[in-house]
Amino acid sequence: MNIDISEVANLPSRFGNFKVKAFKEGQKEHLVIYKDVLDDVPIVRVHSECLTGDAIGSMKCDCRDQLEYALKMAQEINGMVIYLRQEGRNIGLLNKINAYALQDKGLNTVEANHQLGFRADERTYEIVTYILHHFGIKKIKLLTNNPDKINSINDIEIVQRVPIIMEANKHNKDYLNIKKEKMGHLL
Ligand SMILES: [Zn+2]
Repeated sequence: MNIDISEVANLPSRFGNFKVKAFKEGQKEHLVIYKDVLDDVPIVRVHSECLTGDAIGSMKCDCRDQLEYALKMAQEINGMVIYLRQEGRNIGLLNKINAYALQDKGLNTVEANHQLGFRADERTYEIVTYILHHFGIKKIKLLTNNPDKINSINDIEIVQRVPIIMEANKHNKDYLNIKKEKMGHLL
């Protein structure tokens, strides 16, 4: 892997003061948001970019709520959020919007991805191990509802899975059910 790594910078945020460091992997630029002094076994959230949710406040998914929850928790207990630029479960923004258009016609999120020729989830997590090793972290508590994430983070001891508990709204209720029933998320 050929990765460029930025300097460390301060990032005062509405969730408190963080340090940030960027990792450039080919075309993709990821961001690590973390507390200056990390917990011995820090809580880590691996968040995949969702422009419509994170930035626009879309109600079709729970990404923004999860991101805010993770940033609050990282702030409170000296953890880290690894923000990966793999939009739309890694099919990219254009394909994701096409998948949304198919959902407008009645397909669910998994069916829409399949119709476009993608798997339900195209995300990868090799970079996570690279980033954690970079910070000298060998053990983490992983903040996730997604068991695939536990299995796809190699060479790091995950001592505990910490669930994110979110309330569904009327727009994302079906999406959350599909995540649970078709994609094995532990909700
Ligand atoms: Zn989302």
